[in-house]
Parts: sequence; structure tokens; C-alpha cells
Amino acid sequence: MNLEYSIVYSARKTLTITVERDRSVIVRAPNDTPHEKIEQLIQQKKLWLYEKVRHTQKYDLPIKQKEFVSGTTILYLGRNYKLEVVSDPFDGILFDNKFLVSKSRVSDAPTLLKDWYIKKAKSKIIPLSDFYAKHLGVSFNRILISDLKYRWGSCTPSNKLNFNWRLIKAPMRVIEYVIVHELAHLLEPNHNAQFWATIKTQLPDYLKAKEWLKQSGGLLEQQP
Ligand SMILES: [Zn+2]
Repeated sequence: MNLEYSIVYSARKTLTITVERDRSVIVRAPNDTPHEKIEQLIQQKKLWLYEKVRHTQKYDLPIKQKEFVSGTTILYLGRNYKLEVVSDPFDGILFDNKFLVSKSRVSDAPTLLKDWYIKKAKSKIIPLSDFYAKHLGVSFNRILISDLKYRWGSCTPSNKLNFNWRLIKAPMRVIEYVIVHELAHLLEPNHNAQFWATIKTQLPDYLKAKEWLKQSGGLLEQQP
């Protein structure tokens, strides 16, 4: 398992590791700290870090790695589809009520599938964000579909929206809920009654989607 972290260099004197509330790992290092030294510290603290990072606040399920073999199921828009490894040589992932990957590319399948997911996420999330923004009467400056860790979406004070590409594995209503949730923050930064009422105007059954994320959000983190 790979532990991801980001490094913040500054004029400080000591090297520290923290796990933020969103469970991202941040190393704060003096300028010019060699990368090996940071890696060494990460290795030393590995067990502690795993415990902290995996400490479940949002996800209830453990992260399991799946193998890319025929019969493996792959989640897309809330449904499981079978993967088939085929002998024809072709690049990338094909989808036609099942996922197809060429035997010659199966070793790259995790990356190919991730690229496929990101493309699909963009093609669904961006137009839906435009749609709901219009309905809510709000506008945003920029939208990014990215590799957010342990968060489904975020909205910055400068009206920039970020969505986790893994959302594309969730049912459409759940994707819509996350979009409307972030857009509603452009009107109301807090999770108060007014905020939930705004969401309800767009998605009367948003509680179901909210509950789905709470119960099954961990599924979206699983690979593939
Ligand atoms: Zn929120």
C-alpha cells in the first residue's frame, strides 16, 4: 500500500508529519531537506500514519484492492459491471455493459481505468454543475475534477469547485447531491437549516443520497 503525502518546505528548523482532518498527510520540512530524509521519516512513522489515515471518520469499509481478472466487478454510476480480459489488442478501457481490457494492457489496467473514470466524471459532473448552478442562481469561477483524498467535493471562498473523480462510481442521484451541496455553499457556507433547505429545493430526496454516501462512500475508494 502506498502512503501519499505532500511536502511543505519553509524556513523552519524541524521536520514534522501531521495528519490533517481530511486525513491527508503533510510533511513540514526545512528548505533543502533531502527527499531521502523525508522518506526515511515516513517509513519510521508508517504504522502510526496508517492508523491515523485509516481511522474512519467518513468511510465505514476497509479499502480492498481488487485484481484485474475476468469476472472482477467494476463500479460505475452505482452499478457493478463485470470485467473481461480479452485477447484482442487495443488500448485503454472499453465499456459496453461490461468493461473490456486487452490482455496486453492488463498490467496498466488500474491506470487505464482511472483515466476512463476521470473522463466520464468530467463529462457528467461539469454539465450537471452548470445545470444546477443556473437553477440555484449561482456562478462559479472554475471547476476541477481531481484526486481529492477523503472528500467528495469542496468549494473554496473564491468560488472554485473541486470534485473527487471517484464520485463517478456512485449512483447519479448521489453525484447530483454532492454537486448541489457544493453549489449551495456558494449561497451559504454553513450547514445550517437554510443550507439544507436550499438543497431540498433542487433535490427533494437528498437525504437518501446523503445516507448512501455515509453508508457506502467507502466503496468508491476501493480499486478498481
Ligand atoms: Zn458542506
